Amino acid sequence: MKGFARVVVDPVKCDGCGKCVELCPFYSLEIKDGRAFQSGPCFLCGGCEALCEAIRLEPLLEVRELRSLR
Ligand code: SF4
Ligand code: SF4
Repeated sequence: MKGFARVVVDPVKCDGCGKCVELCPFYSLEIKDGRAFQSGPCFLCGGCEALCEAIRLEPLLEVRELRSLR
């Protein structure tokens, strides 16, 4: 899955409300079995992570390296 980050959803904290799915501008999140999961590339807008404490973004290695150059 290409993109800039892996979206990690805490299965205990996520109640499947779907707000992150509605918010993602790239339609990269879906609900399955009552939990959110990443179904497409994340472009690190940060919206879902700011919205919900169940979500943590893990930038891909290449992105972390680029950030360290700044
Ligand atoms: S990750 Fe958060 S916003 Fe998304 S469905 Fe789960 S509880 Fe709702
Ligand atoms: S950070 Fe932005 S692009 Fe990535 S999954 Fe969350 S809302 Fe979508």
